[in-house]
Amino acid sequence: MQSRRTRKVVNSTKPLISLNRVSRFYKPDKPALFDISFDIFPGEFVYIAGPSGAGKTTLMRLMHLAEMPDTGALTFAGHDVSNLRRSAVSVLRRSMGVVFQDFKLIDDLSIFANVGLPLEVAGLSVSAMRSRVEEVLEQVGMPGRGADLTAFLSGGEQQRVAIARALVGSPSLILADEPTGSLDAYSANFVLDVLEQVSASGTTVVFATHDRMLMAARPHRVIAFEGGRLVGMSSKGTETAAGTGT
Ligand code: ADP
Repeated sequence: MQSRRTRKVVNSTKPLISLNRVSRFYKPDKPALFDISFDIFPGEFVYIAGPSGAGKTTLMRLMHLAEMPDTGALTFAGHDVSNLRRSAVSVLRRSMGVVFQDFKLIDDLSIFANVGLPLEVAGLSVSAMRSRVEEVLEQVGMPGRGADLTAFLSGGEQQRVAIARALVGSPSLILADEPTGSLDAYSANFVLDVLEQVSASGTTVVFATHDRMLMAARPHRVIAFEGGRLVGMSSKGTETAAGTGT
C-alpha cells in the first residue's frame, strides 16, 4: 500500500476515466444518461453538476464500475471495463474510494473500526491498520479520535470519517456524490478543504453536486448535465455556457 506522503503528483496526459458515447437506459424510452463523452485526467478535481434527475448518481455508479454502460465505452486506467471479468472489475474498484451524502458509517462501531474496515478486509495486521488509520484521521483533521463512536459525531465529523475511510486504501480516485448535501456551510467548507488537499497530492477527485454557489466559491472544472445529457464543460474556474443546475 502506497502512503499518501510518498505518492507523486501525476501529470499524465492519459485519462484516468474516459467515456465515449456512453448511454444508460433504465427504461427503453427514457435514458438516465445519453451519448456522454468526456475524459478525466489523473489528479484533477472535477465537478459533475446538474439538478436532481440530471443523471449524476447514475454517472457516479458507472465510474465506480457498479453499473456498466448499455452502449458506448467506459475506460478506467486504460481498461475498457465492458470487456473485463468481474474479478478484474473488483480489482479496479479497489483503487477507488467513495463518499456519499448520507455518510454510510456503521453507527455502533468506533471511528477506528469504520475507517479500518477496508484494511481489515484486505487482511492487514492490527498494528499496520492503526498506523494507516491514524495517518488518514490526521489528513481529515481528526487525529487521535479513533476510539470515539461514530454515532455521537456531528454531521461534518461523520463526513470527515467517511472521507478517511475512502482514503485509507490510498485510492487513485475519490468519487464523492453530494458529499456536502447534508452539511452546514462550515462543515461543507472543511470537506472541500480536505478533498482539495487530496487532489493536490495526486488523487483524482470527482464531486457530484447541484450546488452552484459551492462551485462558484470553490472553482474547479465542471461537467454539467441536464435530463441525462451533457450540457456543458468548463475548464478550471470558468462557468459553463449551458449552466450547472439549480
Ligand atoms: P441525479 O443523481 O442527478 O439526481 P440520477 O442518476 O439519480 O440523477 O437519475 C437520473 C434518472 O434516472 C432519473 O430520471 C431517475 O429517476 C432515473 N433512475 C436512476 N436510477 C434508476 C433505477 N435504478 N431504475 C430506474 N430509473 C432510475
